[in-house]
Amino acid sequence: MSVIPARDGPQPVISELVLTGPPLRLRLPGICAYCGAHGAAPLYWEKVVLVTDSEGSASRLVEGIRAPFCPRCRATHEREVKRMSPFLNLLQCFRSEVMIGAVLTGGAALFFGWKLLPVLNDDVWSVAAWVALVAFFGLIALGCLLAAWRATRWRTVPALTSITSSLQWREETAGLFEGDRYRYTIRHPAFYDALLALNQDRVWKPAGTRARRAAVWRKGLYIALGIAAVLVIFWEYFVEFLRHEW
Ligand SMILES: [Zn+2]
Repeated sequence: MSVIPARDGPQPVISELVLTGPPLRLRLPGICAYCGAHGAAPLYWEKVVLVTDSEGSASRLVEGIRAPFCPRCRATHEREVKRMSPFLNLLQCFRSEVMIGAVLTGGAALFFGWKLLPVLNDDVWSVAAWVALVAFFGLIALGCLLAAWRATRWRTVPALTSITSSLQWREETAGLFEGDRYRYTIRHPAFYDALLALNQDRVWKPAGTRARRAAVWRKGLYIALGIAAVLVIFWEYFVEFLRHEW
């Protein structure tokens, strides 16, 4: 546990905890993460994370977590949280250029559906052809809409409130075979103690069993790769040798 000074709030310290596994799999105590009161129930919220890949291009991901809060802190959170209306939520999709495809193909589905409806005969084949045509454009439109929604969803995630910012998390860079691990920044000491007690088996220790096992696996992999490289070189020379001899 490392301790860093808090900038504001009644608590003098903010504690950090590194736990393995995804945040949504944490075992949660019934203690409020903000004020330490008992009888807290889990609340789900999301935040936006900026991720940069190896080529340097950045994208935004939405990450969720669940943590317990008491009814009083929940009420404060509800007062502070600024959620977008469902209509504004939907409008965000239009900030993605994929929506051009959705509008064009959706328009084509409506156009053909409407225009060809009066000329439909009673026979099954013409009805099937009409359904296939409308479904073809309709499905492309739906696919574009879903892609646009995924690309712009981060814009609809509400900003953190004073309550939800009392528990922060971020992924740590893990070595090969070590598995995911996250660093949690925790405001209340009682919540810290309760969370730690429930998740003892997930505490990341740089010299712990999990780290040592990963190191053994890494060593094994490097040895296997080394042997493979030697075999390849040997084989190359061996084939050359055979070619010269015979
Ligand atoms: Zn509370």
